[in-house]
Amino acid sequence: MTVLEERPTQHAAVFAPAFDAQTDPLDVIRWALQTHPDLTMPSAFNLNGVVLLDLAARAGYTGEVVFVDTGYHFPETLSTRDNLAARYPQMTFVTLNAGATPEDGQTDPTLYAADPDACCAVRKVAPLQAYLRQQQPSALLNARSRDQASTRADIPFVEEGARRKINPLAFWTREMLEAYAAAHALPVNPLYFDGFLSVGCWPCTRAVKPGEDARAGRWAGKGKTECGLWAGEGKL
Ligand code: SF4
Repeated sequence: MTVLEERPTQHAAVFAPAFDAQTDPLDVIRWALQTHPDLTMPSAFNLNGVVLLDLAARAGYTGEVVFVDTGYHFPETLSTRDNLAARYPQMTFVTLNAGATPEDGQTDPTLYAADPDACCAVRKVAPLQAYLRQQQPSALLNARSRDQASTRADIPFVEEGARRKINPLAFWTREMLEAYAAAHALPVNPLYFDGFLSVGCWPCTRAVKPGEDARAGRWAGKGKTECGLWAGEGKL
């Protein structure tokens, strides 16, 4: 029997189950769907995101999958999005555009190099924040997991903050994700198999080296580890 406990949260009327590390992610998603029928799912379609999409489909999720097109994505990432949209027609895939591109001459084309925090704030965080202000979902379904990086080592299943985040894959390892993706023939971004274990914008992503964290190739050498969506002052 699932024990219910009240968590200190802005969702004071909402009770969250006392999940533990062995809880099946499907149970977490099913609880999320019952508790937050207006749940929405931002995704960048990395390995974690692809696995979460498939699990969400199995749990009956038919909501929106929201992708922020910064204007700097690899073609492989855009193809992965399109493959997933075709595979899960019961969901609505929404692409948010970051607006004017540097190539239009309307924003500084060197911003990602000169000030990647500012670039992410404008091209990633702002479009998603604007979408969330408009849609006002009570919670987000998110694919982060503890073993992606040391900075994510404490991610819980249910994360409170400006908006509740539900992280069904919190305790899954990379090996578990890879095994699930292979078993279900999921359309993983092909760059993953070239060592891009976490794929972001092309100016800010490199393949990881053996033994590195999955996210070590993101903003490598720039003193930055997160885009700002999930950590930092402006986090969701
Ligand atoms: Fe800009 Fe790089 Fe952030 Fe993409 S990842 S929004 S290119 S700084």
